Amino acid sequence: MANYKDYKIATLGSHTALQILKGAKDEGFETIAICKRGNTKPYESYKVADKIIEVDDFKEYFQIEQQLIDEKAIIIPHGSFVAYIGAEEVQNVKAMHYGSKGILEWESDRSKERKWLLDADLKLPKVFDSPEDIDRPVIIKFHGAKGGQGYFLANSPEEFHERFKEFPETEDQIAIQEYIVGVPVYSHYFFSPLTDELEVMGFDKRYESNADSIGRIAAKDQVDVGIRTTYTITGNVPIVLRESILPKIFEMGENVVKASQKLTDKGLYGPFCLEGIIDPNLDYFVFEISARIVAGTNPYINGSPYTRLRYDEPMSTGRRIAREIKTAIESDQLDKILG
Ligand code: ATP
Repeated sequence: MANYKDYKIATLGSHTALQILKGAKDEGFETIAICKRGNTKPYESYKVADKIIEVDDFKEYFQIEQQLIDEKAIIIPHGSFVAYIGAEEVQNVKAMHYGSKGILEWESDRSKERKWLLDADLKLPKVFDSPEDIDRPVIIKFHGAKGGQGYFLANSPEEFHERFKEFPETEDQIAIQEYIVGVPVYSHYFFSPLTDELEVMGFDKRYESNADSIGRIAAKDQVDVGIRTTYTITGNVPIVLRESILPKIFEMGENVVKASQKLTDKGLYGPFCLEGIIDPNLDYFVFEISARIVAGTNPYINGSPYTRLRYDEPMSTGRRIAREIKTAIESDQLDKILG
């Protein structure tokens, strides 16, 4: 039997690295954190990294990659990994990479992503091809905007053009999406190709500035001061869903995995997240999928209420990844989970 101790787990020091590395250590792996110079403190203080490789910029990943290969490190990609290295460059990663690279192409392109999610029978907010068609509240999203910065709302073509004037320089592609009035719910999943089973790991909602503070100000003051809603992500808040919604949550996740298997070789596996809004009719409108671990799992380093039901030990998403890797190594199926 192959020995998992021959392998190490590595990730970039940001996003969900603390739980990835802590989870890996809990499973018995040695860990490596690649940190920006000056940002090593959390990884030292929380004692999650056996080794820290410092770089001036995460873009230098390819310069230190050989070290990872020499150490037999398996790299765990997270949101910042893809954001800093670039969805296209990720295809050139030569170190052992956990998760499917092929699916990234479907996730990072809005129209491909939409096709995938529609194929999975999910409900999606309506998309408007032209601002002249706006006939209801819409949210305007800039492509590649970090953390929802600059997004704005409009109710009509006139309002759209009025607000759009504020972005004269923009060459970004924009997406005009129906604005769903309801509560945001981000559903965290894990799909194992080793057992063919989908697990629901937990849920969160985002804590966004200033969207989550506007309700603290009277409507009159909001108007007087001319506050514009922004969605800069600052943290994540755990939530527990009404239990009767759970069957639908499982079904949605399974459909997304099934649909992904028609798109790429191995399809989607490992952790992923459906991001959407549940409206008063309990319809769940999904506006995005993240095909990897999301920061919304960070409140659950000690496990979520849902992982507690399945595991009699703390099971973060980071630890679940490490467990999967360990099982794959020991059963000689590593090729099934590396992409
Ligand atoms: P990510 O970093 O995940 O790519 P983003 O920058 O693309 O995020 P979104 O997550 O798409 O931003 O959206 C930012 C905010 O806007 C979130 O609070 C989300 O709940 C809200 N939002 C996005 N789309 C809709 C929609 N169609 N209806 C209502 N609210 C929406």
